[in-house]
Amino acid sequence: MSRPAPPRPKADRPAEPGSARRNPATPTFDDVVEVTATDGLPLNLVHPRREQPPTRGPVVLVHGAGVRGNVFRAPVRRTLVDVLLDAGHDVWLANWRASIDLPATDWTLDQAAVHDHPALVKAVLERTGRDSCQAVVHCQGSTSFMMSAAAGLLPEVETVVANAVALHPIVPRWSRFKISRLAPLVARVFDGIDPRWGDDAPGPFEAALVGVVKAFHHECNNAVCRMVSFTYGTGFPALWRHENLNTGTHAWVRTEFGRVPMTFFAQMARCVAAGRLVSVDGFAELPAVFGVEPPTTSAKFVFLRGERNQCFLPESMRRTYSYFQEHQPGRHRQYSFRDYGHLDVFMGRRSATDIFPIIARELESA
Ligand SMILES: [Zn+2]
Repeated sequence: MSRPAPPRPKADRPAEPGSARRNPATPTFDDVVEVTATDGLPLNLVHPRREQPPTRGPVVLVHGAGVRGNVFRAPVRRTLVDVLLDAGHDVWLANWRASIDLPATDWTLDQAAVHDHPALVKAVLERTGRDSCQAVVHCQGSTSFMMSAAAGLLPEVETVVANAVALHPIVPRWSRFKISRLAPLVARVFDGIDPRWGDDAPGPFEAALVGVVKAFHHECNNAVCRMVSFTYGTGFPALWRHENLNTGTHAWVRTEFGRVPMTFFAQMARCVAAGRLVSVDGFAELPAVFGVEPPTTSAKFVFLRGERNQCFLPESMRRTYSYFQEHQPGRHRQYSFRDYGHLDVFMGRRSATDIFPIIARELESA
């Protein structure tokens, strides 16, 4: 299927097949595998590989809303991808319908849970000849993947390492106000929000919104960083602690965020009000609400949370862990990181020593 990619700056393009990445000591080559969602939407998998074949099974990395698989490859000395490849894992970066590398759609978590994640996992298994895999999932990649897993749509996934939020989205009070009261007003003007407007507003309404954000957010000079904080949470900044990012990563976020549709915010508003994920599209494959009936999955779940998360409060993950602990006691794990927020768990300057070894250990002990 042809996939018209939106024009992007050169440094912002998805990996080309066979292109080599940094670190000449252990060169990594990226292949891109096109995948079709079960409703026909184009998706893809970026497959970083080394000359030496993997010695372990596949691990699928699932990004959050309005970013892309590349979000796991911040310009830090060692990324999660590096750590997993070094340990012999077969790493696959899944670009699901929320990816900024794909044509923009007005997506919901339901659509991703039913149409994207099962198709992406199936494609990985077909390519690798394996009958099972593991996953590392973040934010809305986590919520949608957890919906799919909890509904029994991902029986091949044996281990899920989930960060920030899973079945129970709990947000700060200001975020509750924004998503319940401000988002519906914004939706009258825009069909989505794009943090890149901070650098390049396409019209007067977008420029006006950026002006309002800049009036309240003075935490740094990166207009995209400030727009990300407005879009996704409460805090200055909201998705990371500035002190956890190196200079290059703080600049790099300018090219790693893009449009998020208001359809997502409308669903999340209902989820936040309910204190748990709720379905909105009426798919027969999904329950109406999550975290009530026992989960129909035998996967092991590992829940990560930054205690300074200003997007989804740490209580979000505590609740989901408690839910799984209640139904499958002793099977699942949770980890708390005192000095981390939301996305700096994956792109922090010290994540390679504070966090990635824990993820690798949990994947290897499965
Ligand atoms: Zn900033």
